[in-house]
Amino acid sequence: MFDNLTDKLDKAFHILKGHGKITDVNVADTLKEVRRALLDADVNFKIAKDFTTRVKDKAIGSDVLTTLQPGQLMVKIVKDELTELMGGETAGVNLSGNPSIILMSGLQGSGKTTFSGKLANFLKTKKNKKPLLVACDIYRPAAINQLHVVGDQIGVEVYSEPENKNAVEIAQNAIKHAKANGFNVVIVDTAGRLAVDEQMMNEIANVHAAIQPHETLFVVDSMTGQDAVNTAKAFNDRLDFDGVVLTKLDGDTRGGAAITIKSVVNKPIKFIGTGEKMDAIDVFHPSRMADRILGMGDVVSLVERAQEQYDEEEARKLQKKIAKNEFGFDDFLTQIQQIKKMGNMKDLVGMIPGAGKALKDVEIEDDAFKHIEAIIHSMTPSERSKPSIIDGKRKIRIAKGSGTKVEQVNQLMKQFDQMSKMMKMMQGGAGKNLMRAMGG
Ligand code: GDP
Repeated sequence: MFDNLTDKLDKAFHILKGHGKITDVNVADTLKEVRRALLDADVNFKIAKDFTTRVKDKAIGSDVLTTLQPGQLMVKIVKDELTELMGGETAGVNLSGNPSIILMSGLQGSGKTTFSGKLANFLKTKKNKKPLLVACDIYRPAAINQLHVVGDQIGVEVYSEPENKNAVEIAQNAIKHAKANGFNVVIVDTAGRLAVDEQMMNEIANVHAAIQPHETLFVVDSMTGQDAVNTAKAFNDRLDFDGVVLTKLDGDTRGGAAITIKSVVNKPIKFIGTGEKMDAIDVFHPSRMADRILGMGDVVSLVERAQEQYDEEEARKLQKKIAKNEFGFDDFLTQIQQIKKMGNMKDLVGMIPGAGKALKDVEIEDDAFKHIEAIIHSMTPSERSKPSIIDGKRKIRIAKGSGTKVEQVNQLMKQFDQMSKMMKMMQGGAGKNLMRAMGG
């Protein structure tokens, strides 16, 4: 996410770090580089200029030149300003109605339908809601089908009327259906066009007026940079929406949209989409995003994800096994499944402070555990529970069965061994405290 911008900002701060003595000249140079980095990230000129002016004023106010660690202080000022620019506080979605009605808007291809599914899934699994998805695209039968496919995937009912060409009517009927059948959230996916046009705007404005949603979200593809900001403006002028959803942040996005959209339309970014799968949705936290942009990772989100997957019962069982020296490859496999549930590897690595930068040229496969899983699956149950019986002959068989090389099997055995030893150590005093601190 935003690798290029992170890189450039890092270089800008280096101007300060590299000097024994800080002068107003190298502070000015740093700010010039910060501005250039923002412009390269597709932040518009005025916003970038105002930004660096504010940073400069703050830096002067806090006497950057005379502090012991001017570089760090500058990073902090930039971080605070970035957070402010992206909205300051985290903004939630309004779920006050019963049912709460959420209207989705945006151009075709922005990721609206995908996001409707993600949001339904999020509300169902994390907020205990019973959502109904509504297909209101009256032009493209394929769009209706797509929503049904998404609904099936996540086990959420989809309301559609394929023969009806009146979007307002469909939306109204869907709300009636929701009320009669105990749905407490209605998510209305509307038709999009490739570009902003009058007919589309009228149609969605009519639906908006008729169903009076509690929450209107505007979905936009972050890869489109300044265009995303312009489209947001056009939709906001008509719909006065409540919040923005930025999709495709997993791609090679420059970051301009994330940084500027709030200050242009004065509406917060509420969610981000980070992949095509139904769980690739995150609540947008301006301060965590600023951390990520500045290459500081996002430990809070990482720990949150770990906690979501944390199963007390399982953890207790695991501890017992470790204590009795019974930790085997089946347990290892379970651990891998849990890590995989936390999200894709690239995304997770990006949350570790410094790791994103250190590994930016390393190709991380989405399914980084593929080989490990194949190797373990090729082991017999007794080999999995008692790895010490795996001798040379068995290794050859396992490598063959899993389509890997003996070296890879060896490597896994070694990693497993180290991990078992480390876990055993964690059982001791210091480790226990650490595990407790992490919610264990
Ligand atoms: P709609 O026309 O606005 O309903 O857009 P779709 O939901 O059909 O999405 C368009 C394309 O973008 C599809 O291929 C999606 O799989 C893809 N997509 C949507 N959201 C994301 C995202 O967050 N990340 C990535 N990489 N792809 C996405």
